[in-house]
Amino acid sequence: MTLSDEMLQQLVETAVEVRRWAYAPYSNYLVGAALLTTSGKIYEGVNVENAVFSNTICAERTAVVKAVSEGERSFQAIAVVTKNGGTPCGSCRQMLAEFGLDTLVIIADESGKIHRQAAVSELLPGAFTPRDLPRA
Ligand SMILES: [Zn+2]
Repeated sequence: MTLSDEMLQQLVETAVEVRRWAYAPYSNYLVGAALLTTSGKIYEGVNVENAVFSNTICAERTAVVKAVSEGERSFQAIAVVTKNGGTPCGSCRQMLAEFGLDTLVIIADESGKIHRQAAVSELLPGAFTPRDLPRA
C-alpha cells in the first residue's frame, strides 16, 4: 500500500506535535509516534518512562496498544519522531511485526525531516510472527 505525500507529511507532523507529551524525565529523550490504521484513523503515542526503568514503554508501542485496545489491528504506517531521527528499538519492531510485516515505518527528527522509510520486514528480518506458533 502506498502512502500519499500528504498523509506521510500529516503523520510526521502529528508525531512531531505529540512528542511534547512524552514523559521522559530520566532520559530526556522525547519520542512521538503517529500510527495510521488501514481504516484511516491515526493513533498517537509517546514514550512514558518510570522510576522503575523496566516499566518504561516506547511511543510506538503506546500507539499500537491504544489502537488495538480500540479494535484496530491493521496498520498502514507509523511515523516515529525523535530529536535526532533515532530508530525504533527491537521491542517496538517486534510489536509492529505482530500486526504485519508490511507496515511502513517513517523515521524523522524533531524538525520533521525524514531520515528513513522502511517496512517492518526490512527493520526486523526473520521476525518471529504469529505464523511461527503452532495452532491446535
Ligand atoms: Zn521501542
